[in-house]
Amino acid sequence: MVHNFNAGPSILPKEVFEQASRAIVDYNGTGLSILEIGHRTALFQEVVDEAMATARELMKLDSDHELLFLHGGASTQFFQVPMNLLNEQDTAAYLDGGVWGKKAIKEAKLFGKVEVVASSKDRNYSYLPKGYRIPENASYFHYTTNNTIEGTQMHSIPETAVPLIADMSSDILSRVMDFNRFALIYAGAQKNIGAAGVNMVVVRKDILGHVSRPLPSMMDYREHIAAGSLLNTPPVFAIYVCMLTLRWLKQLGGVSAIEAINDRKAALLYDTLDRLPVFRPTVAKEDRSKMNVVFVMDDETLEKEFLAECKANGMVGVKGHRNVGGFRVSLYNAMPLSSVRTLTELMNEFALKKA
Ligand code: PMP
Repeated sequence: MVHNFNAGPSILPKEVFEQASRAIVDYNGTGLSILEIGHRTALFQEVVDEAMATARELMKLDSDHELLFLHGGASTQFFQVPMNLLNEQDTAAYLDGGVWGKKAIKEAKLFGKVEVVASSKDRNYSYLPKGYRIPENASYFHYTTNNTIEGTQMHSIPETAVPLIADMSSDILSRVMDFNRFALIYAGAQKNIGAAGVNMVVVRKDILGHVSRPLPSMMDYREHIAAGSLLNTPPVFAIYVCMLTLRWLKQLGGVSAIEAINDRKAALLYDTLDRLPVFRPTVAKEDRSKMNVVFVMDDETLEKEFLAECKANGMVGVKGHRNVGGFRVSLYNAMPLSSVRTLTELMNEFALKKA
């Protein structure tokens, strides 16, 4: 048995893989593959409609917010956001809380002024900055809710009067949140929502249409809204997998149900780490992520040994990102508690052997 702790693309529910593979051969008994149906057919419209309706329901979105499925990964949103929302003479506020946030900052600077309100780069992003001030005249404030590489997660929504924008790529729909507080949310699908190749974007309509630069149609959120996410040929299969994954989450009981499971998985792993001195979590306790758990060992030989044990026991994707080293264990929605239990049992045995 394989336990997939990859950071993304990552584990999806088994029933999603099964349904998606059947649909490649024969979509819903039509004799057609999902890969060969036109994106403007009623067959595909059903898929988009269900994906959008389910996502809206799970997020409890109000009617001021539009939901889109757009091409490209979250990295496209790093520049699409400022292109649509930041005039050249204006300032956007950004939090520098991790490598992905830093990349978003770099792209925003191409379109206007950027004020970095705080940074945790001084300690390799192992904590989240606190007590910063968001300027009231900023066009918007951008932050990353969960830092996938460093393993930190913002546990509350910042208080500000300026439009809030969040990159939720690695924790969207993993916990209950007031999604309506955001002016714009984006998330690459390949962790909690579905297959790589598509972004889910939520945007409050009133923030659009205020920049003076001309926008290419494919970059203009308003054009995508008007076209119902079908401005051009969308990533049909990726959207189909999103629909299946969202349907799975709804059937499971929605966001509060998955949050309860995610809390148990994270508690089990962090409790184990805190109990066993051979492992050392790298992140400030109050900022720990429930999606990506990052830890190291003080002895590199032991790290290699433990990694080999993980491999021998069917655990994949536990090697840490090169920026931090050590280990990173991702606990996205589809990760079963039983796999986390198997990992913690291995950690206990390893610690006992090395004591
Ligand atoms: N933001 C976050 C928080 C991420 O984790 C990632 C990818 N892991 C990205 C942005 C970039 O996403 P993509 O590779 O889909 O462009």
